[in-house]
Amino acid sequence: MTATVTVPVPAMPRRRKDPSEIRQPESGEKNVLLAAPRGYCAGVDRAVIAVERALEHYGAPIYVRKEIVHNRHVVDRLSERGAIFVDDTHEVPEGARVVFSAHGVSPAVHEEAAARSLDTIDATCPLVTKVHREAVRFEKQGYSIILVGHEGHEEVEGTMGEAPDSITLIQNPEEARAVELPETDKLVWLSQTTLSVDETMETVDILTQRFPHLEAPPSDDICYATQNRQVAVKKIAPGADLVLVVGSANSSNSVRLVEVALEHGAKDAHRIDFAREVDEEWFHGVSTIGVTSGASVPDLLVQDLLRLLADYGYGDVEEVRTADEDVIFSLPRELRKDLKAAGLETSNKKNGADRNHELR
Ligand code: SF4
Repeated sequence: MTATVTVPVPAMPRRRKDPSEIRQPESGEKNVLLAAPRGYCAGVDRAVIAVERALEHYGAPIYVRKEIVHNRHVVDRLSERGAIFVDDTHEVPEGARVVFSAHGVSPAVHEEAAARSLDTIDATCPLVTKVHREAVRFEKQGYSIILVGHEGHEEVEGTMGEAPDSITLIQNPEEARAVELPETDKLVWLSQTTLSVDETMETVDILTQRFPHLEAPPSDDICYATQNRQVAVKKIAPGADLVLVVGSANSSNSVRLVEVALEHGAKDAHRIDFAREVDEEWFHGVSTIGVTSGASVPDLLVQDLLRLLADYGYGDVEEVRTADEDVIFSLPRELRKDLKAAGLETSNKKNGADRNHELR
């Protein structure tokens, strides 16, 4: 499903040097394939709105444990409005209000917060909470759990904290080949929500060959948003000389999009936080540029990039849509309760383009 969209050239185009200095591709044609879905997912949208609504309702400061979502622009804008981002709950003054990020926290963090009498708003994405619940349930049932994910990622720390004695972390196919597990009849795998679907299945295939009794999770742990963005970038990658992924370095799903693009035919691919990070050398000999963005990226950053590309002659933009998304998650329970008590709107009505606009 494709649609052609016109991207307005900015009144004051940003030029790092005369675009005519860039060597033209032989065909002389330049165009952009714009992946859809891209950008904000329902979990990110909800988490960002939760912080904004908390700032509006309770007033600044609102403490946020870790980056609410992995995007520099979003974190910077919320900081300007009075959010204070901390690495751990012990940095939050006793009795203050703290929001837990979309990536989730372990039970130990909830306990620390309770011990410091913090008012918590848990903005953990419901799809991360689902994986937490699976970990708890399988541990109770006596399973050993393999968690496919990346060490050090906040989501993985939170999930492992739910069943620390039962989870073994496997990061990639190499580790799947090498891992030694305790003898057990009950073995199940779960995964981080933002992984590469293909690499995860490769890892799981290796594990299944080695441990034939390995059971799969009851439903996909890699979330709909991660999967949809990977499907969309796979669609545009084969026809792209260059794929640009807007997203932050610590955004797992954004980093995966670069990898997926290269694995599926893109000749070159780069991740950028902002349009200004584009290196014009990347345009050398490039006719078609694919553009997408990670699940924590407001679309205004993509629009900035499209304006820059238009400035360099890539103004012909074709949107390539592989799925429609209409998922909305309700605001965190604690926040809804307080908003309701104050007679305020409790639904998560604002999302999509409105959110992106507001965060400029
Ligand atoms: S990427 Fe998926 S799991 Fe993560 S916040 Fe978005 S919807 Fe939730």
